[in-house]
Amino acid sequence: MPEFNGGSMAIVQRAAPERAALTTGHTADRVRVLLDEGNTRWRTFAPSRPNQGSDRRRALWEAETEDPVATVLGCADSRVPPEMLFDRGLGDLYTVRAFGQVPDSSVTGSLVHGTRELATPLLVVLGHSHCAAVREAVTARRSGRVPEGHTGFLVEGILDAIEDVPEDVPGDFLDACTRANTMHVADQLRHEPGLRERVHSGELRIEPAHYSLKRSRVEWLGDLPENRPGPETGVPQQRAPNSP
Ligand SMILES: [Zn+2]
Repeated sequence: MPEFNGGSMAIVQRAAPERAALTTGHTADRVRVLLDEGNTRWRTFAPSRPNQGSDRRRALWEAETEDPVATVLGCADSRVPPEMLFDRGLGDLYTVRAFGQVPDSSVTGSLVHGTRELATPLLVVLGHSHCAAVREAVTARRSGRVPEGHTGFLVEGILDAIEDVPEDVPGDFLDACTRANTMHVADQLRHEPGLRERVHSGELRIEPAHYSLKRSRVEWLGDLPENRPGPETGVPQQRAPNSP
């Protein structure tokens, strides 16, 4: 195993070109191509696992900062790790995960850091099939009973997202609710004060996407609705209540 030999200015200077080459000139379009290519490798069982070797670890360590190409908000579900399903490596994706990708202040603050301070041009809101969080919300909607505590906070967020999905929607109801939740979160974030300025200026694009566990495929859900009236503050500011 190569030894890490840090601390000298010479090493920092050698690391700079590699780091720059990974990120310079990446537009949202280019980043999406990179993610598509990675997902193709993943779903065809031919991952290249880039940027996971000792050289990459050393370059990131010596750089003393990070420069990811995309920010990803995904579900905490153990079956949907963004770095694996997009076949990327260390320092490539700034990833924030929460059950049902429901944003609260902590999640949104993290996303603001990834998109504004780290200047990633693309924010992917990644939902997925068979999402247990959405399933809990569907159960709550049908029973009229919302769980207490932290789980209730998450379920209520998803209930807002799926309230317009009819029970007789064509196709699978849970799948429709999952997609509606992803679109809802992406739309919330588009109106979030810490993000909307970059969206309006064209420096940031927010893309909702859906990952199929069965197909191992990421499907882009399309542009967010134009001119949809939204609240000044897109994400609830309260923190999750303490559980008993
Ligand atoms: Zn989930």
